[in-house]
Amino acid sequence: MASGYKIIVMVKQVPDTGSKAGLNPDGTIDRARAKRMLNPFDKFALQAALHTKKMYGGSVTAISMGPPPAVEILLEALEHGVDRGFLLSDRRLAASDTLATAYALYKTIQYVGDFDIIFCGLQTTDGDTAQVGPQLAERLNLPQVTYCEDFSVQNGEVHARRIIEGGHQTVIAKPPLLVTIANSYHPLEYKSFRGAWRVQQLQRKQEELAQYIKTVTLDDVGADPERCGLKGSPTIVAKTEKVGELGGSCSIHEGKAVDELVKEVITGCNVKEFLAAGKK
Ligand SMILES: Cc1cc2nc3c(=O)[nH]c(=O)nc-3n(C[C@H](O)[C@H](O)[C@H](O)COP(=O)(O)OP(=O)(O)OC[C@H]3O[C@@H](n4cnc5c(N)ncnc54)[C@H](O)[C@@H]3O)c2cc1C
Repeated sequence: MASGYKIIVMVKQVPDTGSKAGLNPDGTIDRARAKRMLNPFDKFALQAALHTKKMYGGSVTAISMGPPPAVEILLEALEHGVDRGFLLSDRRLAASDTLATAYALYKTIQYVGDFDIIFCGLQTTDGDTAQVGPQLAERLNLPQVTYCEDFSVQNGEVHARRIIEGGHQTVIAKPPLLVTIANSYHPLEYKSFRGAWRVQQLQRKQEELAQYIKTVTLDDVGADPERCGLKGSPTIVAKTEKVGELGGSCSIHEGKAVDELVKEVITGCNVKEFLAAGKK
């Protein structure tokens, strides 16, 4: 492919796991109070996208769906070397489950245009379902390679190494395809000084920034609002409960055979006491 690959990377903004995000009275995460960050799993997808561009040429487009502050992670992606970003943001998306999310993102990908490879993270640190990547592939009628931890392109074909139970599997697929990247892939490289400086300059000129990062609505991408948000979501979260902070005391067990140690750790752990300590 002379002009290189048209690459899309899917990135999501999630509550910072280090910040103490509380719950709303209805059990949903209080996202307004939580600090925000790029989903850690998506850093590996971003690295895979940028590496593919570096090795084989082409361009990288980052796509995200979320409330307006999610533009922050598209700026971060731009600093790392992504060429452009699209944020799908619309109040009618609130309370979307994975079915509605994958539908809305699928319409956004179609709106963005042609592509050869779509990279997704394996899962997110908030929803944590690992369903969105495979659902996107289904909707786009694409072959999908999941749990990919390494890949190369040879004679126009992607050779991908997947993690499977007890080992690895190498699969060969022709683009267009969708790949979900495992967190054993190479870590995201540091952003370059040039990239960070460029984004800083762009932020001073909003009209120029708009050429690189576009915010779109359901109407722009031609998505049916009935299939988004609460209306388009058959999943109901019945209840969410806080079980207390993790952490506490730790003990070191050593000097015995592994199965003896496992038995000792399991029998020594009082789950009720642990949960009660977390609630205090
Ligand atoms: C009933 C219900 C109500 C919900 N209400 C809300 C709500 O009001 N607000 C809310 O924010 N969430 C809500 N969620 C969670 C939301 O549905 C999921 O976060 C979302 O569908 C993505 O699923 P996931 O986080 O499990 O992603 P996974 O499937 O674990 O993600 C895999 C990969 O898909 C890609 N991806 C996933 N989501 C996005 C995205 N948004 N943009 C770009 N790429 C993405 C990333 O590459 C990611 O690594 C709700 C869930 C349910 C079940």
